[in-house]
Amino acid sequence: MVGSLPTAAAIAHAGITLPADAVIAIDGPAGSGKSTTARALARRFGLTYIDSGAMYRALTLAARRKDIASEDGDRLAALLAAARLELRDDRRESSVIWDGQDVSSAIRTPEIDRSVSRVSSHASVRAVMVERQRELGRRGSVVMEGRDIGSVVFPLATAKIYLDASLAAREARRHRQFRDGGRTVAPQEVRRELAERDRRDSERAESPLTISPDAIVLDTSDWSLAEQIERAAETCLINPYLDTLLDTDRESAVRALPLNYRIAYACFDQIARFFGLRQIGYNRRSVPAGIILVSNHVHWYDPPIIGATFLRSPLRTLAKEELIHGPLGFLFRLLDIIPIHRKGYDADAFGEARRALQNGSCLFIFPEGTRRPVGRPGPVKNGLGILCQETGADVLPLFIRGTWGLMPGGSPRSPLEVRYGPMVRLHALPILQRQYDRQAINRRIAKLFETIFCELQARCYRDRPETPFEQGLFQRLTRKFAAKDRRLFGPSP
Ligand code: C5P
Repeated sequence: MVGSLPTAAAIAHAGITLPADAVIAIDGPAGSGKSTTARALARRFGLTYIDSGAMYRALTLAARRKDIASEDGDRLAALLAAARLELRDDRRESSVIWDGQDVSSAIRTPEIDRSVSRVSSHASVRAVMVERQRELGRRGSVVMEGRDIGSVVFPLATAKIYLDASLAAREARRHRQFRDGGRTVAPQEVRRELAERDRRDSERAESPLTISPDAIVLDTSDWSLAEQIERAAETCLINPYLDTLLDTDRESAVRALPLNYRIAYACFDQIARFFGLRQIGYNRRSVPAGIILVSNHVHWYDPPIIGATFLRSPLRTLAKEELIHGPLGFLFRLLDIIPIHRKGYDADAFGEARRALQNGSCLFIFPEGTRRPVGRPGPVKNGLGILCQETGADVLPLFIRGTWGLMPGGSPRSPLEVRYGPMVRLHALPILQRQYDRQAINRRIAKLFETIFCELQARCYRDRPETPFEQGLFQRLTRKFAAKDRRLFGPSP
């Protein structure tokens, strides 16, 4: 639940450590202390440190040397795609190697400072860079810092930290850095460069610097370095600590189920077994009350299959109202669904969903609002953001695959799989609510979950590659669902 972070003492007392595959994402404006903090966390937790800004800087330097303009996104992306870019981290110093040449100090100059944010603003450049960064992070056990690490590169990071500091504090730090490096740069010049870079990094259309709704924001303006590192280290352990509070006693969860749910889950279980379901993550632990369960949606069969993977009652489901009046209406009534009509905003349905969450029920929704073509999750509607903002509930995301190709015992055409992500806790909501209007926050929450669904899908396909059957479905269903989408929600903007 948003708003009640555990104390450092509670975390220490519980003896929490980072999981072996931890990914720590640190974002924030220039000069907020990301590199120093990330390096210190790497030492403390034995992680690999990755400075994503250095990767953009190395590209900027290479482009300057080849006379490629910072406006020419396509040539920049091609230059990056053809280059060997390595980051070496020997725990004390990290170096950046571009095509075999160490450019670690050449990328830290005021000239690079001035052009790097233009180079990094191109979607084509970012697509290649993000793929490289994910490749580095896939091994797990990394701390990566930058501008879009929590929001785009690793949407399922173990911990997301947004480091902030006042412009004056950042200016002083940068100035010290330049002085220690033997450079003299006028304070006004440092301030102007920082402010300009912040503006470009935050206002660009592609992956701007933003506070991800699930990040923990640390304002370091008045902290000593030691304090900053200590607080960041505690922050890394907050989600792992909260995870330990999840109830893992499956037996008592089953016993506590009312009869109607027990019957339904037993049926779902049989169906899922029959079709050879593989479940990854979460593994049927019970969870604390009042969370929202969210899934992509491709087929009618999704709800019973998902039902077989999640054991918790009461679990209320937001579902289109037509179902109640259909031939299986009695079943939906038995499972206590909350009917919603999907054109416009159904205040009654949302009111009931909110009350259900506040009374401790879990809520299941398909946040895309309707079925989507296989292979293309999203876009997520505003409903999820509305519920999160009104209730502060935690969100458990999952991805379902294979309901179009069901075959007894498992289908080679489209493997049946439900893959859960980690619990997403929207720690930054109170801060965002002070800065932005509700609509803007809804969009951010939607964007976060769109990225999460894509990441979960990518993990599925990495384990078991997309099949020709699924590719065919994607082609066929894209057209069909686009027409339905227009009918349901009106023309897309
Ligand atoms: O962190 P650093 O100041 O070295 O980053 C240099 C620049 O690289 C940033 O100002 C930003 O324009 C770009 N950058 C980015 N996304 C990242 C990291 C850095 O766009 N993840």
